[in-house]
Amino acid sequence: MPSDSIFRLYNTRTRQVEPVETLEPGVLRFYSCGPTVYSYAHIGNFRSFLTADLIVRTAQAIGWKTRYVTNITDVGHLTQDDYADAAGEDKMERALRSKEGEQFANIWDLARYYADALIQDWHALNLQEPNVRPRATEHVTQQIEAIEKLVANGHAYATEKGVYFSVPSFPTYGKLSGNDAAEQLDLAVRDIVTDEEKRDPRDFALWKIDPKHLMQWYSPFGRGYPGWHIECSVMAMEYLGEQIDIHGGGEDLIFPHHECEIAQSESLTGKQFARYWVHTRFLQVEGEKMSKSKGNFYTVRDLIAPEPIGRGIDPLALRYALISGKYREPFNFTFKHLLDSAKIVRRYQEVSTLVDEALRADRPGDDYVGQRLEGFYAETLDAMLDDLNTPVALAAALKGVKLLQGIGELNGASARSAKAWLNKTDDLLGFIYHETTPRAALVSGSQEDPLAKQVEALLAQRAEARKNRDFARADAIRDEIDALGVEVMDTPEGTKWRKKLTV
Ligand SMILES: [Zn+2]
Repeated sequence: MPSDSIFRLYNTRTRQVEPVETLEPGVLRFYSCGPTVYSYAHIGNFRSFLTADLIVRTAQAIGWKTRYVTNITDVGHLTQDDYADAAGEDKMERALRSKEGEQFANIWDLARYYADALIQDWHALNLQEPNVRPRATEHVTQQIEAIEKLVANGHAYATEKGVYFSVPSFPTYGKLSGNDAAEQLDLAVRDIVTDEEKRDPRDFALWKIDPKHLMQWYSPFGRGYPGWHIECSVMAMEYLGEQIDIHGGGEDLIFPHHECEIAQSESLTGKQFARYWVHTRFLQVEGEKMSKSKGNFYTVRDLIAPEPIGRGIDPLALRYALISGKYREPFNFTFKHLLDSAKIVRRYQEVSTLVDEALRADRPGDDYVGQRLEGFYAETLDAMLDDLNTPVALAAALKGVKLLQGIGELNGASARSAKAWLNKTDDLLGFIYHETTPRAALVSGSQEDPLAKQVEALLAQRAEARKNRDFARADAIRDEIDALGVEVMDTPEGTKWRKKLTV
């Protein structure tokens, strides 16, 4: 594909790959559904957050400004919301009653804890911070106002048990998912009807009246809490306006969540809500559906936390592995692939060290890599613009690593080109440098940050103790360094260290 800087994505709404044309030229308004914070996010959740991250990075690479919003669901998502409206119990309340829930004082404490954990994992995997990360519980007033408006304009009605969106009032309901036959939709909500006053089995809850719920608010309809779907409509419009460019999420959200969002939003404004809908396909582990009962269920921290709590995997290797399959195809996560990814990420880090050394040495000569690296970057970017074709993008980037490792020693001019290529590739794909840690702190010998100073001082003491053959003291100092989250490597070129990258 030629480098025409046209960003193409598969649009679930139209079922084809289309050039993304933003409402305001050069500005992307993008809303991506975030997690429900009732436990740690798993790697399948993160595969879909990574798709959003790559959309943002690719848009920025062609010079677009991005307005990126991704939410935190901390109320109203019921255990059976995915197939039976308003049935089941609140996922947050159930989590509080579980074994893990015992450590929390109350439901607010639990929500805060898992939201913080989510953000830590987010940073560990180098996902860009959104412009806004709104929480459902902090936007209840806006949700109540939206529901009142929907009741007033005839798209919703109240019963003794809650307020429902009237699906027959929105004839195109079902278009996104293709569930446009009434029988299919009836099937999707099964026979579970929790409210006899519901006018149509397809109608979905906007507000649930429940004075016993642990998170409850006063509303004109009665004390209770909002349904899951309304929060995303309201928060997307609050921060991005009535119309947005791209809306994203996991494929499990197409129906009913996104279908409901369209119905609510468009009934509120009379305008098209989102033009492009982008969905990430599911993830399997070693060829099987990920499930706790099968023992193949992994949260991000199961993999990246240090042993014995986790597997001690470099978060950037996990990032690499998760983005290595096309977002639009089912992804089979395997440990072999994760370890291969770790080897590749390590190669980039070796190249980065090699380039930094060459920059310091600044040997004379002409740039003999710049042009080829530019070519590899163009190939990488073209692949990303082509519906986020990450396998092709990663292969193109790897050609640069092979080139630089093949050459070995670089002169100053070539090293500067190589550095620029590494930075650009990292801006686009995000697995080379740990962005949440100052880059200077990641390499030996840097005196710029306080951790580096502390480690260098301890290493000097350790060298001194070894010289005096005081090995007990040397070991004790090494433990002290270890406690700082730093890994020490005794190499033929001397002692090196790097930050252990764990949460
Ligand atoms: Zn959502």
